[in-house]
Amino acid sequence: MARSHRKKMLKLRKTHRVLSGLFVCFLILIMIFLSMSSAFVFITYVFETKCRAEEEKITYLVKDYNVVRDDSDAASILEDYENDYMILDRNGNIISLSGSDTCLRNDKEHIAFTSTFFSYAISSNHYTMYPDTENLLIDTSEEECPVLVDFNYINDGKKVDIQSGEDIRIPYWLEIPVREGEQTLLIRCELTVKFMELMFFIVFMGVISLILIIIIAAFVINYIRESIDKTRLKKLVFMDPISNDHNWMYFLIEGEARLKKARPSVKYAVVSLVFVKYRNFVLCHSIEEGEEKLSDVFRLLDGETDDQEIASHTGSSNFALLLKYEDKDSLEKRLWDIIEKLGKTDDHHHFNFHAGVVLLEDAASGKKFKLSNVDLDREYNNACNARIAGEDNDDSSVYFFDEKLVEDQKWIDSVHESQEKAVENEEFKVYYQPKYDPRTDELRGAEALIRWISPEFGFVPPGKFIPIFEQNGFITEIDHYMLRHVAKDQKKWLDEGYECVPVSVNISRAHFIENDLADQIRKIVEDEGCPTSLIEIELTESAFFDDKKAMLNTISKLQSFGFAVSMDDFGSGYSSLNSLKDLPLDVLKLDSGFFRDISTDGRGEIVVSEAIRLAKNLNMKIVAEGVEVKEQVDFLASEGCDMIQGYYYAKPMPGEEYLDKMVRNGIPEREEPTPEEKGADENEQNSPEAE
Ligand code: C2E
Ligand code: CA
Ligand code: CA
Repeated sequence: MARSHRKKMLKLRKTHRVLSGLFVCFLILIMIFLSMSSAFVFITYVFETKCRAEEEKITYLVKDYNVVRDDSDAASILEDYENDYMILDRNGNIISLSGSDTCLRNDKEHIAFTSTFFSYAISSNHYTMYPDTENLLIDTSEEECPVLVDFNYINDGKKVDIQSGEDIRIPYWLEIPVREGEQTLLIRCELTVKFMELMFFIVFMGVISLILIIIIAAFVINYIRESIDKTRLKKLVFMDPISNDHNWMYFLIEGEARLKKARPSVKYAVVSLVFVKYRNFVLCHSIEEGEEKLSDVFRLLDGETDDQEIASHTGSSNFALLLKYEDKDSLEKRLWDIIEKLGKTDDHHHFNFHAGVVLLEDAASGKKFKLSNVDLDREYNNACNARIAGEDNDDSSVYFFDEKLVEDQKWIDSVHESQEKAVENEEFKVYYQPKYDPRTDELRGAEALIRWISPEFGFVPPGKFIPIFEQNGFITEIDHYMLRHVAKDQKKWLDEGYECVPVSVNISRAHFIENDLADQIRKIVEDEGCPTSLIEIELTESAFFDDKKAMLNTISKLQSFGFAVSMDDFGSGYSSLNSLKDLPLDVLKLDSGFFRDISTDGRGEIVVSEAIRLAKNLNMKIVAEGVEVKEQVDFLASEGCDMIQGYYYAKPMPGEEYLDKMVRNGIPEREEPTPEEKGADENEQNSPEAE
């Protein structure tokens, strides 16, 4: 989600830049096109019409000149024309010349013509045209016959003077071969642009400029408006309404931008920080006070970070930090200092915070690490996962993310992905662990224990998936699945004439939020046609800390339906003596912890015998779990323990094997555990290979 938002933001930025760029280019092109076309229109108009008219006049003059052979007549024709001119022979010698604007320099004569106003040369239809900036250099050293040496560019500094209201005259020279190429006539012409024509051009250019100004103004207004919109949008996207400052998007986009710019020698860490029991605070105070607290927390975090670091409020009671660090220990110390300061932001309360940390370099171990490649979204998620490790406790905590956490998370994900299919494909198997009377060695009952035999993961012990199902809620489905299969097996064995004993099924505490739990259990069992007396419900000790009233209600209902109810893992950590007082349970299961370390001073035995006595006095049956050695069996038998469930008698086994035990009418085959088995891991012991 955040990733797609981030992409959209970046795309928006890029598109905005690309569109503005394209628009500017488009405008510049239009401007160039308009100016060039108007200049072209003007120049074409002036030269095509004006020069052609002048040329035509000259053409008549040249015709007359060609006809007349007498030099003085020819001269008078040219004189009549009243323009400056020059006649050259084949060798470039000047035959005659006339011009007012001439000057002499050293021994060379320059005919310097007016201005440098216009430097444009075109080839007209018949004649060569020179701009007026070209001055003619004549060699006068040989007195009788000056020679045209070259067209030299000599600027005499005069300019065309444009007086308002007057026509503009631009002089230029035409070179015309005359008398069949015998001579060359160079004649000075003038291009006259009428004042009105000039005005028309000025107005024309004015209109074009106005259009351009309007377009540019529209662009500028549009640009300003877009910039304002962009700022507003940025504020909207990057601003958190509670802290009035950085939010999650800001953390993602700005954080990655900063990491890209960061020097490679600087190390960064991503931190997920959460306000513990924020909801409780809001409940006891008000939403406004809660939000004020969150804002205070943000201010403090913001004050603790420098301008290369980021603090942001990512939503609810969560904060994200991007921090620089030197080494893990100093970072941890810094975080504890921050948490301590945060805890004291209120005079009347002390607040706790859970922090999860990802050291970016560690997160990328194995790969070539580059800060610019960091995916902050993923790393923040990892920091959250690290943080969750401390969430069982309400005290403040700081946890660092490591590879084991990644592996655990991957396993959790794969379990989550395969759980439904595993139920569909009946990959979960019911194993039965028999319970025996230690005085008579007779089969008295069994506990149904789940095993996952997965084509993908192989044999998976319950410790590897039951806690995951408890977390993701799938445990409800699993417990129903087990209940249904046990009820089905019991019904089948009953029908086949076996002497069935009650089988206990574990029901997770997660179920106790459902107030029709007892009805659900009854329905499942009865639907399979199994008598309720053959099913016992095991509730773990920790479940008794939940709502007592609801618990009592469910237990009474189950008992009224004919089920026996047992308290599992009694003595495993939580003190549930109180629950024993309030709840009318049928069976007490002593936790295997009592029998794990055989005490030498007899204290353990005292506790066990007192627990047995307590159960007897409360009219409860007592089952000892995890019993592995004969001395313990003998001791438990002497103390009046009703049943033993442990490796001394039997490990959990598939239904067919368990059936064998029943056929033999409860006389068990003794299984002395080997020394390896005694100390070996529970999971290994339960694998089919081990069994
Ligand atoms: P639990 O309910 O306390 O089950 C007893 C565990 O002790 C079983 O482990 C059993 O194999 C083991 N055990 C029994 N006797 C001995 C012994 O003499 N020595 C040793 N070392 N271990 C012994 P298991 O089958 O691995 O189950 C572990 C836990 O997983 C169970 O503890 C229970 O909390 C949970 N579980 C198993 N099946 C289910 C189920 O179907 N539903 C639910 N909700 N939880 C289940
Ligand atoms: Ca159990
Ligand atoms: Ca147990």
